[in-house]
Amino acid sequence: MVTDQVAFVTGAASGIGRQVALRAGLEGYRLVAVDRDADGLAEAVRGFEARGVTALAVVADVSEPDALEAAAQQARAVHGRIDLVVAAAGIEVLGTVADLDAAAWRRSLDVTLSGTFFTARATIASLIETRGSFVAISSDAGTTGAQGYAAYAAAKHGVVGLVRCMALDHGPAGVRSNVICPGFVDTPMARRLFDSSPEGTEEFYRDAIPLGRFATPDDVADVVLHLASSRYANGVVYALDGGSTAGYFVSGDAA
Ligand code: NAP
Repeated sequence: MVTDQVAFVTGAASGIGRQVALRAGLEGYRLVAVDRDADGLAEAVRGFEARGVTALAVVADVSEPDALEAAAQQARAVHGRIDLVVAAAGIEVLGTVADLDAAAWRRSLDVTLSGTFFTARATIASLIETRGSFVAISSDAGTTGAQGYAAYAAAKHGVVGLVRCMALDHGPAGVRSNVICPGFVDTPMARRLFDSSPEGTEEFYRDAIPLGRFATPDDVADVVLHLASSRYANGVVYALDGGSTAGYFVSGDAA
């Protein structure tokens, strides 16, 4: 159990961020739950409370640097410290270079890449004080290409580069920075993608995973908490994809 430490989690209203926040709270962290979706956040916090976890809910858009500064300030004012930062807020933007317009490209980078940077920038001084830990949620599209996801993959590659630099820049001050690259995780984001894709898309992607299933938010939370407590992990780019980026894989009878 963790005692007296504070976890600051973005994207905490839904999916991965929500489960990471709950698990961190159950682990003993005092929780600061950040999201732009006020109603979703309020509902998530009620769910946390039903499990005995209290959270400071802060509505903020991670693409707005001032909002992140205010959120981190509020966390420090209430709890006095920040020990673990998890940057999970992100959006799915689909399209190729031929069909993405400038606004969609910018939105992807603003939220997914700049949002991670603004989260890090607003909390790094606190993490230096506590010799804390930063964990970003990138994607398998942060280390490989992803057909039809040019803006998303570019943003997620940027997140990997950003976190690697943080590991070098702030490791000497005792801050550990790591990034998780999940394949598909069964969350509202993944459901939206499958629901708007041609029939068979979900099965196609599932068949490409050696472990034969999508990740759950709990699978991601396991790794976040492991990286947070692992005293020597710094600059880790953690592929959490059931083996799908390990090499060529052909499932079932076709193998
Ligand atoms: P999700 O269910 O859509 O949850 C994301 C949460 O972040 C939502 O509450 C969302 O609010 C919030 N958010 C989005 N933009 C924000 C912003 N600008 N400021 C503050 N909050 C914002 O998605 P998820 O699947 O949990 O994804 C979490 C992270 O994991 C994302 O970075 C995603 O790219 C990454 N990831 C997901 C998968 C997957 O298959 N699910 C795989 C690899 C990586 P709204 O509902 O208002 O947008």
